[in-house]
Amino acid sequence: MLNCCNEKPIIQLTAGESLCKKHFIEYFENKVFRTITKFGLIGKQENLGIALSGGKDSLTLLKILKKLSDKNKKIRLAAIAINEGIENYRDKTLEAAKSFCEKNNVPLHIYSYEEEFGMPLDNMLKVLDVKPCTICGIFRRYLLNKKSRELGFTKIATGHNLDDEVQSILMNQFKSNIRASARLGPKVGIKDAKTTSGTNSVGNRNFVQRIKPLYLCTEKEVATYAFLNNLIDNYLECPNVSKSYRAQVRDTLNEFEAKFPGTKYAIVNSFLQVLPDLKERFKGEEANCCKECGESASKDKCNACRFAERLEKAKLAKAPITSQLS
Ligand code: SF4
Ligand SMILES: [Zn+2]
Ligand SMILES: [Zn+2]
Repeated sequence: MLNCCNEKPIIQLTAGESLCKKHFIEYFENKVFRTITKFGLIGKQENLGIALSGGKDSLTLLKILKKLSDKNKKIRLAAIAINEGIENYRDKTLEAAKSFCEKNNVPLHIYSYEEEFGMPLDNMLKVLDVKPCTICGIFRRYLLNKKSRELGFTKIATGHNLDDEVQSILMNQFKSNIRASARLGPKVGIKDAKTTSGTNSVGNRNFVQRIKPLYLCTEKEVATYAFLNNLIDNYLECPNVSKSYRAQVRDTLNEFEAKFPGTKYAIVNSFLQVLPDLKERFKGEEANCCKECGESASKDKCNACRFAERLEKAKLAKAPITSQLS
């Protein structure tokens, strides 16, 4: 086994090398900065929004981007958090988010499903027969984009890591949804195939470019970095995770990675080779705007508006007849 130095190793990397705390932190931060440069994720001047959930990924992301912004005053940062309304989970992670932002002097904007869509996710799941992550993800992306545009962010950085990306690639493959894979990659969206930096738009001017600086960092590396930097003291998981298709793909992948180390990197590396062609093939598909809300949509109405309509109908169906008449 290869060690970095004489200090006690705290993690073994996929390639086999073991690193001590100091060398791991150095390795990890350099990897994120290299990812930003390699994929041209951040321009010389940005008003960057960080999608902050208060979990390990987004806190790690914010900590590293704060270092970047402290060194370069032309990169301004603010955090944006969405409170979906998941009891005993989001309320707790949002406390961690608030406390980090206060200590580190980062402005934080919080929006909730309850205020924006009339009820928290927990209640939506009682009135609609829908998979939790489907509606949750659609509403979160909708709010993130809309609010980021209103706040004047040039880009939104999200805490997606290598494991998240590999899961998405496989899920799309298993469900024969290649169109969705065309939107993946370190820069989200379809039309941006050939651009590398300095743009905040991917075809649709309402779309705020999303970037993933942790794209090449494994879940294990992110969790290690977060714990070493005291960003989280316990590991909370959304209670809806176990019901998701993603969780099953995640567990299968983890088993496979344990047997064949390097599998996750191999999947992302081969995906990156075909991604420019995928983006080219599906370009133009996001050029539509929703006729209800103006957000980008692949059809004439976006998924968030479709779900909002279903919610309204479900609420009416449950309401007493007298209030339906008034
Ligand atoms: S696991 Fe699913 S329900 Fe929970 S926060 Fe994530 S997307 Fe929402
Ligand atoms: Zn060392
Ligand atoms: Zn819409």
